[in-house]
Amino acid sequence: MNLDFQHCIRCTICLENCPVFRVNSDFPGPKQSGPDSQRFRCDGETPVDHWITLCSQCRRCEIACPYGVNPAEIILREQLDYGKKHYRPLVSRLFSRVYYLGNLISLIAPVANRLVSVKIVRRLMAFTGISDYLKLPPYRFHAMKRSWRWKGSHKSKRKVAFFYGCYLNYNRPDIGRKIRDLFASAGFRVVLPGQVCCGLPALGNGDLAAARRLAGRNVSILEEYIDRGFDILYSCTSCGLMLTQCYPGILDMEGGKKIAENTYNIHEYLLKLMDEGLLNLIFESVTEKAAYHIPCHLKALGIGYPGAMLLERIPGLEITVMDDLCCGLAGTYGLRKKNQDTSYRLGIIAARALRDTGASYIITDCATCRLQLSQLSGMPARDPAEILFESLKGSVNMKRKKKL
Ligand code: SF4
Ligand code: SF4
Repeated sequence: MNLDFQHCIRCTICLENCPVFRVNSDFPGPKQSGPDSQRFRCDGETPVDHWITLCSQCRRCEIACPYGVNPAEIILREQLDYGKKHYRPLVSRLFSRVYYLGNLISLIAPVANRLVSVKIVRRLMAFTGISDYLKLPPYRFHAMKRSWRWKGSHKSKRKVAFFYGCYLNYNRPDIGRKIRDLFASAGFRVVLPGQVCCGLPALGNGDLAAARRLAGRNVSILEEYIDRGFDILYSCTSCGLMLTQCYPGILDMEGGKKIAENTYNIHEYLLKLMDEGLLNLIFESVTEKAAYHIPCHLKALGIGYPGAMLLERIPGLEITVMDDLCCGLAGTYGLRKKNQDTSYRLGIIAARALRDTGASYIITDCATCRLQLSQLSGMPARDPAEILFESLKGSVNMKRKKKL
């Protein structure tokens, strides 16, 4: 991917694909905040720097640019530089430590979940800069990190280490355990490695040092598993983007390339095995209509829509794939009061379009998309892996063969 702003021919295609530009008139879009501002900086002039803080890092501009310029990464580098030069507000500091907070909160989950519904606590949170239009997801004491660390036969030749990420860890360990069990029932030996946050919340909140620290810990843990013949799997598309693109890319981690080369999306992994005839998953038939919201970061991964392709194999499940909508929440972006309006407007546009499909529920890979879209549309939102797991018939055939 070419970061060089000089290759930008100002065609404005990225602009047409930028969700924030669509709803926030203060944001001039990826062309002006990215390559155009870079030209100013190289000429020694000062561009309007606060523009870059409005970008949600959805990465749609990067996918859209036909000339290989990466406005999202140009902006991200400037955001990190901005974070170094300016005072970072409390909310950014809190969100960049979301993993450590999760560790603490999950220990007192029943009390913490009650506290966030108390008005005065909500006001206090709003005072620190946390947006207040969404009900925050409850935390669970029985986090993924407190689950059985492995499942499946020790003798199995196919071994996977599941990077479940913070959301499944602290908020939806039930989905994480279903993914673990889905692979175990398909004949894999599944391990849940000791892991920390992928680093995206730190990166998105301007703390490069914290992102590199977290990435460093993950790289050393996951490298060991790779050396022992494990493939690394992820289900969260934002974690996947960090592991496969940011570790060897913007974070420039030693060992990052090795992690990227051995890490797969769970659906991509299953689909490949099925297409090669190495795995036969047989699904129960259902009579359901669902709308599949494609998260921006799944698009940015460039692996297609493997979850949707797998779900299409469930007899009777009718899916409408929607890939031109951004939910607006973008990780912690929409959870900041300053971005609340932008996030809400985008969320409403997406929620209406999903409701108009006539589907009875939403499917999407990204946990924050589910949070935003379920609350704004009033429709249930589910993880594709949950549906796969629940539709799986007892009969799973597995053949051993080469490494994926
Ligand atoms: S960054 Fe790419 S898409 Fe955007 S204006 Fe420049 S050339 Fe066009
Ligand atoms: S990353 Fe997303 S929000 Fe940021 S400029 Fe690109 S398209 Fe717009």
